[in-house]
Amino acid sequence: MVPEERKIFDNGTHQNILLEDYGHGKMVQANVHFIVDNGQGMILDPGGHKVFKHLLSEIGGMIGIDNLKYIFLSHQDPDIVAAINGWLMTTKATALSPVLWIRFIPHFGVDKLVIDRIKGVPDEGTIIKLGSTELYILPAHFMHAPGNLQVYDPVSKVLYSGDLGASLGQDYIYVENFDEHIKYMEGFHKRYIPTSKVLKAWVKMARELDIETIAPQHGAIMKGKDVVNRFLDWLDDLQCGIDIMEDVYRLPTKSFEG
Ligand code: FE
Repeated sequence: MVPEERKIFDNGTHQNILLEDYGHGKMVQANVHFIVDNGQGMILDPGGHKVFKHLLSEIGGMIGIDNLKYIFLSHQDPDIVAAINGWLMTTKATALSPVLWIRFIPHFGVDKLVIDRIKGVPDEGTIIKLGSTELYILPAHFMHAPGNLQVYDPVSKVLYSGDLGASLGQDYIYVENFDEHIKYMEGFHKRYIPTSKVLKAWVKMARELDIETIAPQHGAIMKGKDVVNRFLDWLDDLQCGIDIMEDVYRLPTKSFEG
């Protein structure tokens, strides 16, 4: 049974579930999301080896492992892709990755028997079918990876934003107070997003969508139009990356202390 707080949306035939958090130790906290439509599933950014077998049995118990249709990889980072070989070897699913990373992912150790089931999504994104619904694979390049995708689900109106909207250090699953929440997001966005120009272009696209929930790959979920709009406004104004870091390009003067 999925606890209520991990069900982001459920109308009986379509579910959006935040899977159990099996990460621990020094791993960055990561959310693994799961979309089900009429018994067919897509797992998003399934992470590394330590969480793989737990997630596999959790989704096997929910829909049966052969009904996993897609494994979505928003970008090439290890907290997203590291266990891809296991996922491909144990399921019949197709993996979707930004086309930019298709030749880099095999370095995680992908068997030649399954390598052709990793499909590259072009830079402009695409539309895929899951069950009886269509999901949008959106371009989210440079946020933070140069090839980066997101998923918009028009049934639940959830935007899976990947690293955008990531927060670290808070102890809640859903954002209650956006102003209080900013401090948990700020450091990541200022350092990982290369420039505010990227944010502005993305916000313009995102405002065309009817978004009820923004579900990032790290930290708390933003639910409700008020919080979603506050987040878009915040991004639209944020200075980040090279906008604020230009003076880092100096020769170092201090020895490494380990
Ligand atoms: Fe990342």
